[in-house]
Amino acid sequence: MLDAASKAFFHLLAQSKTLKTFGSRYGMRSRQSFARRFIAGETVDEAIEAARDVERRGMTHTLDLLGESVTNLEQADAATREYLRVVDAIADSGVGRGLSLKLTQLGLDVDKASAVDNLRKILARAEPAGFFVRIDMENSPYTDVTLEIVETLWHQGHRRIGVVLQSALYRSEHDLARMTALGAGVRLVKGAYKEPKTVAYQRKADVDAAYGRMLKTLLTSGHQPAIATHDPAMIDLARQWARDQRISPERFEFQMLYGIRRDLQASLTGEGYRVRVYIPFGREWFPYFMRRLGERPANVMFVVRGIVRESG
Ligand SMILES: Cc1cc2nc3c(=O)[nH]c(=O)nc-3n(C[C@H](O)[C@H](O)[C@H](O)COP(=O)(O)OP(=O)(O)OC[C@H]3O[C@@H](n4cnc5c(N)ncnc54)[C@H](O)[C@@H]3O)c2cc1C
Repeated sequence: MLDAASKAFFHLLAQSKTLKTFGSRYGMRSRQSFARRFIAGETVDEAIEAARDVERRGMTHTLDLLGESVTNLEQADAATREYLRVVDAIADSGVGRGLSLKLTQLGLDVDKASAVDNLRKILARAEPAGFFVRIDMENSPYTDVTLEIVETLWHQGHRRIGVVLQSALYRSEHDLARMTALGAGVRLVKGAYKEPKTVAYQRKADVDAAYGRMLKTLLTSGHQPAIATHDPAMIDLARQWARDQRISPERFEFQMLYGIRRDLQASLTGEGYRVRVYIPFGREWFPYFMRRLGERPANVMFVVRGIVRESG
């Protein structure tokens, strides 16, 4: 994880229209294009192909149709219709049934009630078909509203939904207790967004320490623990804690992002742990891609080499 300043720099770059146009032209053009390292493709068929490959390697997956921060209800409706088509395509394909989505993609910034309606439409199609739907966590202005929406839906009987908590936020240990009391499954992450010091730890050591505390609590008393990280120290801690507390490997899973630490994904699977790969796809891949760049300087060189190759 980079320090806060570097993360902020990449978040700024992510707003650049020129960069987006340039990236969109080259990033996905061919199977070798640079963005394909982190994104399965622009179509659901490409995502399903990636999902099949993940399954062949003994892992499960959750598919994310990329998109966020829509600015009007037409876009939110279009995203919802697209999600419904994705649900049908996944169900028809026979691959595992897991989805991840963001509430701002369904219109949360425009109108909360419409976003909830859109989520309900997706759940009405996905839940009876056996999908598990993970509501991704966006930056801190959305934490409260996201958890509230999950709580409301949970109380209305939606039980195939889960949340994400970010160890970077001071509030998250409290939110973990809240989600545990509710009964909802939790994916634990460090947090991908640049956050102010009023709400979040700024030092990597503090984010990691909170992650360590939260993973122990989640493994011991949480629901459907999903330890989502590529950090070998956190993974070792989870393994050690599970062994010490006699928590069997079937009671939790590791989660990693498509294209990141494939070696670790394979070795954990080989050791008998459950590993789920988060597979992002879709035309709106640029902000997701920039977050991945912001996490690791070496990725920038990888992209620069790709651009030189593509444009040469
Ligand atoms: C399945 C999954 C779902 C997620 N969902 C959310 C979400 O809903 N909301 C949210 O805020 N965040 C989410 N994240 C992102 C998360 O918050 C972190 O930003 C991201 O996982 C990097 O942190 P890390 O735990 O891997 O640890 P770090 O300390 O950042 O990294 C540890 C090691 O992992 C490797 N690594 C990490 N990132 C990269 C990268 N981009 N490229 C190459 N190698 C890398 C490197 O070897 C690095 O040394 C998700 C992550 C995963 C795995």
